[in-house]
Amino acid sequence: MTINQIVRNTVERLKAEGKAWSPDLYAEAFCIEAKKAGVKVEDCQGIDRYTPLMDKKTQDEVKQYRVKTTAELVRFLISKMSRLNPSEASILVEALSALTKVMAMSITTLHNHNATALAKKTISMIETQGGKTQIELLKQAWENFLEMYDDSFLEKLSDYGKVDSHNLKKTIESLRIDSSAPQKNDLTRVAQLLVMGLSPSIAPAIDDKTALLTQKLQENPDYISRDVFEKEIRAAIAMRIALDKQSVEEMVKGLDELLGKLSVQLIDLIERSENSTTEIRDVKRDLEALDSDKPKDFKTAHKRLYAIATALEEKVEILSIDLRSHNTKVNEMGQKIAVLESQLETATQASREDFLTKLLNKRALQEVIEVKEAEYERYGRNYCIAMLDLDFFKSVNDTYGHEAGDAVLKAFAQILKDEARVNDTVGRFGGEEFLAILGDTDLSGAQTFAQKVRGHVEEAHFMYQGQRITVTVSIGIAQRKDYPSLDTLKVGADERLYDAKHKGRNRVEA
Ligand code: GH3
Ligand code: MG
Ligand code: MG
Repeated sequence: MTINQIVRNTVERLKAEGKAWSPDLYAEAFCIEAKKAGVKVEDCQGIDRYTPLMDKKTQDEVKQYRVKTTAELVRFLISKMSRLNPSEASILVEALSALTKVMAMSITTLHNHNATALAKKTISMIETQGGKTQIELLKQAWENFLEMYDDSFLEKLSDYGKVDSHNLKKTIESLRIDSSAPQKNDLTRVAQLLVMGLSPSIAPAIDDKTALLTQKLQENPDYISRDVFEKEIRAAIAMRIALDKQSVEEMVKGLDELLGKLSVQLIDLIERSENSTTEIRDVKRDLEALDSDKPKDFKTAHKRLYAIATALEEKVEILSIDLRSHNTKVNEMGQKIAVLESQLETATQASREDFLTKLLNKRALQEVIEVKEAEYERYGRNYCIAMLDLDFFKSVNDTYGHEAGDAVLKAFAQILKDEARVNDTVGRFGGEEFLAILGDTDLSGAQTFAQKVRGHVEEAHFMYQGQRITVTVSIGIAQRKDYPSLDTLKVGADERLYDAKHKGRNRVEA
């Protein structure tokens, strides 16, 4: 293909794409057509043959700005060259950076440390000619500073009188004490500062010292500017330290003694407590250690006491919980005991046994006699009853005491039991009266039984606490078949007993 043909195709292309016939667009279209035709045109090789000649930075910029054609490359290089020339703009920028630097330096001398820090950063940025990003970041930091800066505290200071928030120098000047004409208020303030510096002291004596200094200042305000004043202040502070030290030592000593006493008391308390659990043993061990190795400073003492108090608190809590549950248990047991007691009472009432002699009681005797009575009525089985009453028993009690009387009653009961046979029933009717129910027995058999008992009692040596007590018994007997009813039988036996008594006691009457 000839060049003419390529030119024609280029024109066609521009027409078809509706593009203007500018040199650039023409060149672009021509190169496309030439490439299509397989013709190598030097101009169409673009800027590739120049780029290896450029330094790396320029190569990057060329890429960044998408420089494609040689013409574009020429324009790019020209503008780059003109930028390198110190133009008016760059002179202005330089002047502005210099100004910024000076401003930043001024800020570093001001009181606000945030502003100072930012200013230092700005200066270093200007010196190292930081890039756009760095400048942006710093600008942002300054904006933040302005937004956050709050000097309203200065306004608040104005409330205290002499402070002028807009002119701190003036404020400071006004505060300065003119020693030739000192103001009393200022001195009072200085004195107050002094007092505050020296107190609060633990040692009370220091108050006198400060009062003295205050008084001196008030009397002679000029005193403040003298060297001796400074010396006195130093002396006062040294004195305060010494006195405080001494006071602390005394207090620690007092604390030691207190700890000693406390530990002895607590150990005693713990020892008396029945609860020697692990926790209590631990507390005790700590307390004993305290006694032998008394802490020499507040901190150690405080720590120890705190640990012990905590342990005790826990223990006391456990103990009180224990106590509460024990109390509940005790109450429960009390209630159970009350129930048991009332049951016991009922049981005793219902019981057949006499509590002192262990013989049958009146109730049981009644039951037995009823059985005998039923047998008598049904089978005609005769039976006898013997009423036994100890003689002059009242005087036994009166002479030897009630307990001795009880012992005699018990011993008598044993004699009765010994003399009774299988078919016989013996019991205590009440007081010193006894009843024997002799089954399948007639009057002579009953008399034999009664005489044996009487003789036995007469001969018995009732001993009580080494004393021999002589006792006799009177007995009245009656057999069932001699009486029409059980009741009359009882009356009969009673009457016979009465007879025995009247006939001189220690007798059996039938
Ligand atoms: P006597 O036999 O001749 O009738 O005279 P007494 O003194 O035995 O009779 P009295 O009825 O006057 O007194 C009975 C005494 O028995 C009075 C009481 O103190 C005593 N007695 C009754 N029950 C008991 C008891 O359980 N223990 C003791 N120690 N004494 C009792
Ligand atoms: Mg009696
Ligand atoms: Mg009697």
